[in-house]
Amino acid sequence: MQNRNSTNPTNAPDHSGFIQRANSLAESVYEAIFAQLMALKISPGGRISVDNMVRELNVSQTPIREALGRLEGEGLVVKTHLIGYSAAPQITRRRFDELYELRLLLEPDGAAKAAAGMDEVKLASLQEAGGVMGRRDGTDERIRYSTFARQDAVFHDRIMEFAGNELIRETLNHQHTHFHIFRLMFHSRVTEEALDEHEALLAAFAAGDTTAAEKAMRVHLEHSRDRLLPAFE
Ligand SMILES: [Zn+2]
Repeated sequence: MQNRNSTNPTNAPDHSGFIQRANSLAESVYEAIFAQLMALKISPGGRISVDNMVRELNVSQTPIREALGRLEGEGLVVKTHLIGYSAAPQITRRRFDELYELRLLLEPDGAAKAAAGMDEVKLASLQEAGGVMGRRDGTDERIRYSTFARQDAVFHDRIMEFAGNELIRETLNHQHTHFHIFRLMFHSRVTEEALDEHEALLAAFAAGDTTAAEKAMRVHLEHSRDRLLPAFE
């Protein structure tokens, strides 16, 4: 964790540099809390004490409150009057089933449409978002898991962007699906198998093969659902 008292290495009174450091502090505080939520170090429904976070992350209250506000907007944190912040409760089995039904209706079709309009630029952006390039780079498993949760959200969102229907894209986005499902289970298998499936999707996109893209997305979503189901047992 970067300390807010860290000195400017250039010693230059550079205003933009200050803003950048302030931004990167806010960002790293956000990332730290996000990683704890995704890896269930803060369990669903658990209280989040701002004072404890101040001590743990060695920063002031401001970036912590900012991060918690941002996480609230993402559906990961709930703020209750007079009580304060807590981690959002785990999604219910029913909600989980509904989410996957919705995704299976929309995303395979979106993948086919994205494949139909694929070009070099879009393919490169999907390859970057798909998370397959940094595989097994030896980072801490907890960080890697939360990083993948975010990459997965971006990857799927970008496919829907390229599919071209903004309303469908927004509808999926508002579910914050990825953040909720990744909190069901903290396991490296979730990441490794999903990356294999992303590679299959990327191969279909590279070939501009709409049928293969639709099938690869369907298989990915069905496998993703089946990997996470044991969390409800
Ligand atoms: Zn995925």
